[in-house]
Amino acid sequence: MNGLNKGIEQQLRNENADFVHFVDISMMDIRQNRGLPYAILMGIAINPYFIKAVHDSPNYVHTLSDEYAQTEKRVGLIADKLAEWLVCKGYKALSQSDNALITENTFDFATKTSVLPHKTIAVLSGTGYIGKNNLFITAEYGAAQCIGTVLTNAPLSILKHKIKSSQCGNCNICRNVCPQKALNGVGWDINVSRDEIVNVYDCITCLKCLVYCPKTQAYMKRHITMK
Ligand code: SF4
Ligand code: SF4
Repeated sequence: MNGLNKGIEQQLRNENADFVHFVDISMMDIRQNRGLPYAILMGIAINPYFIKAVHDSPNYVHTLSDEYAQTEKRVGLIADKLAEWLVCKGYKALSQSDNALITENTFDFATKTSVLPHKTIAVLSGTGYIGKNNLFITAEYGAAQCIGTVLTNAPLSILKHKIKSSQCGNCNICRNVCPQKALNGVGWDINVSRDEIVNVYDCITCLKCLVYCPKTQAYMKRHITMK
């Protein structure tokens, strides 16, 4: 890792990022990477007490002011701030926060897709996989993280990573708990599309598939019993 990587990681950790990874996206189509060879992936873990509260409230309704929404917003803000900093240093940089994607016109509201989803970059980081709940799953947090990305041409030190395979196995808890029957119980691999896993038009973001996932529950229990 070079000095620029270290500086960026420190800056993001000072803004409460729980993880930072540097990813090669140079092999992608120019419409996806917008001519920029690298991506910086950052994530903030969702508060384990919030996970417990949603898990313990069968009728929980997600709002734009709840902990999940606020964590999403925070990660978008630190991505915007990092992109501004990189531009001030003389590099090209694009934040992929919700606001930035709307400004750049690279989010298609009709199909609910962005040209280069955070999850695609997260998978390339080799630190997790897509679960049958269509969420990025890591060993440390399960599905309980919000992720953001910045694309750049800054001269970062980048290692290629092996893509992790799905570890959902025979589990189907997320599919079974989904009140909308939006999940198909399809195991992810690099050739499986989002639409084979989930019907995004039926999803009401109830968060059940996030909090009931045993990988998320393991994270929650580790942190709640530790305190
Ligand atoms: S967030 Fe709720 S509605 Fe959407 S896929 Fe998950 S369980 Fe189903
Ligand atoms: S609930 Fe089970 S099947 Fe769904 S994402 Fe988690 S581990 Fe995979």
